[in-house]
Amino acid sequence: MRKTIIAGNWKMNKTPSEAKALLEEIIPLVKDAACEVVACVPYVDLATAVEVTKDTNIKIGAENCHWAESGAFTGEISTGMLKELGVEYVIIGHSERRQYFGETDETVNKRVKAALAAGLKPIVCVGELLWERECNITNEVIARQLKLDLWGVTEEELKNVVIAYEPVWAIGTGKTATAEQAEEVCELIRMCLKTLYTLEAATGVTIQYGGSMNDANAAELLAKTNVDGGLIGGASLVPEKFAKIIEATK
Ligand code: 13P
Repeated sequence: MRKTIIAGNWKMNKTPSEAKALLEEIIPLVKDAACEVVACVPYVDLATAVEVTKDTNIKIGAENCHWAESGAFTGEISTGMLKELGVEYVIIGHSERRQYFGETDETVNKRVKAALAAGLKPIVCVGELLWERECNITNEVIARQLKLDLWGVTEEELKNVVIAYEPVWAIGTGKTATAEQAEEVCELIRMCLKTLYTLEAATGVTIQYGGSMNDANAAELLAKTNVDGGLIGGASLVPEKFAKIIEATK
């Protein structure tokens, strides 16, 4: 059975002291979780987050990483830096990185490969824009992203990859994909993985849905066969809501 993973993406929210306080609220609420619980936090919060969650069931993730080991890349963070802190997951290719910071499938692919080489688990985000959905090319967009983003990733490495389906029109808009829409694309993702790898490899990959997932709609989304978890933005900053989403995996 594949792992169910609920991950929070804090985006650019919370200072280190605020992160500590938020995690301390979350820890008791999710201690009996039936799924893997991850908090992906800003770089400056990582050390605090790892320390605060040390003896708990919460894993810590970063929100990006660079592909080079070190060098003249002002403002970037290497996988080695993350590993030394005790970080386990890293979000790669989030649509906000693609939209606002010029991230392309090529740079996403480089970051994914570097993360895997360092022993980090990449949460690779794919998803269509609203106009792409309206033009009926969602399937092509997703297939293209998967092929390019995972280019050169071996079947063995794929075991450490999480895919997050995040339709861009559903992020931060309060407009969730219906459970049927989410399932349709998550199933498509699994079919693409089968084509790129094998049925066995595709069956083992955790595919999350992300985009306005909250305590009210999580159960319906998570009940779908190919939706194996969630990547949660806004609701992950509200302990009760995040805990209820995790509860919905039981
Ligand atoms: P929201 O849950 O705030 O829509 O954000 C989703 C997201 O981008 C998670 O990565």
